[in-house]
Amino acid sequence: MKTKVVLNFSPEAVNNPITHSLIVKYHLLVNILRAEIDEIGGKMVLELSGKAEDIRKGIDYLKSSGVGVRPIKEGVRRDDDACTHCGMCVSICPTKALVLDLKTGKVTFDEEKCVACGVCIDACPPRAMEILI
Ligand code: SF4
Ligand code: SF4
Repeated sequence: MKTKVVLNFSPEAVNNPITHSLIVKYHLLVNILRAEIDEIGGKMVLELSGKAEDIRKGIDYLKSSGVGVRPIKEGVRRDDDACTHCGMCVSICPTKALVLDLKTGKVTFDEEKCVACGVCIDACPPRAMEILI
């Protein structure tokens, strides 16, 4: 299975070799989708692939290492009241998380496909897309 998580690093957790441990100890494939980290902390978006039990153990390991872990759904949000369904974001979203439904004329947002790249943020005229990471 695969899951995407948003990690928050405190200054104390920055130097933990978390990627190495997830791969070697928990047998996970780790894809870094976004990272903004320096010596005083930061944030990272990871896609973890592996057995469900290994993913659970890996996330427990992250939490026990002082790293905050949240599902990506809590990291990227669309304000559905603000979205005008103009379609400006559809062609630039690299993962097709934003798609125009030709039947309804509405733009749908699939949070599971989002990788929190952020390119839709500036492209959205009413600023309906928000990244909280
Ligand atoms: S942040 Fe925006 S452009 Fe990037 S994957 Fe998510 S919805 Fe698509
Ligand atoms: S660019 Fe913004 S307003 Fe336009 S469809 Fe995308 S999210 Fe909605």
